[in-house]
Amino acid sequence: MTHQGICSYFVLMPEGYRPDRKALSILLSDHERDGFLVRVSCYCGSVRHYHPGDLKRLFGNIPILSVRSRLRKCAACGEQHTLKVDFLVMSEAERMNAHVLRLVGVKTKRIPIWEDE
Ligand SMILES: [Zn+2]
Repeated sequence: MTHQGICSYFVLMPEGYRPDRKALSILLSDHERDGFLVRVSCYCGSVRHYHPGDLKRLFGNIPILSVRSRLRKCAACGEQHTLKVDFLVMSEAERMNAHVLRLVGVKTKRIPIWEDE
């Protein structure tokens, strides 16, 4: 964690790296309770912030290490492999300037599945 309260779990690690058990046990609900925001940034320059509770409604109460793999693509450039996820606690002043998205609903797509009689 940096002096600004930013912790990143997605830094380059040596091949064969396995996250420790403690990191694997941190859930979205833990970061929701502790007032973290999730920052998703992309090499194209796009930066968006989400509340862990909103991501929990979408993905379930998953370990925070799994969040990046659940993101589909950058909303700006469409790439997926260029996304970086950080969890941070912001001051009120930082929050005022941050672009924070709130989840207002979820649409469910109905896909028919057919089979022979
Ligand atoms: Zn992008």
